[in-house]
Amino acid sequence: MTTIHTFKIRLEKRREAILQDRESMKQATEQVELDQACVGRLSRMDAMQQRAMSQASARLLDIELQRIKTALSRMDDDEYGYCIFCDEEIAEKRLQFDPSLLTCISCAQEAEKNN
Ligand SMILES: [Zn+2]
Repeated sequence: MTTIHTFKIRLEKRREAILQDRESMKQATEQVELDQACVGRLSRMDAMQQRAMSQASARLLDIELQRIKTALSRMDDDEYGYCIFCDEEIAEKRLQFDPSLLTCISCAQEAEKNN
């Protein structure tokens, strides 16, 4: 399957982008902490809000990064493209939409219901 190679490249690029985002977020958070020492109360609240927001998006990125890592290691194990829950083949359309998806459509829907 030649498409796996394409997915792999996409995953690796996405992983790079996430790692870069995470790095700049980390720097931004450190900057906020530095600034906090010399700002007024109002902007301190702004800074805290900003920090909470960037922490939330950092968490989302971490989850995606974890999924990408799993997808890449499943490629190495020749298990890529099969659902991690039921072993059914994942529709290629789904993978084209997001190559880091690890579940088939029915397991994804099942997981959503339980959320
Ligand atoms: Zn499944």
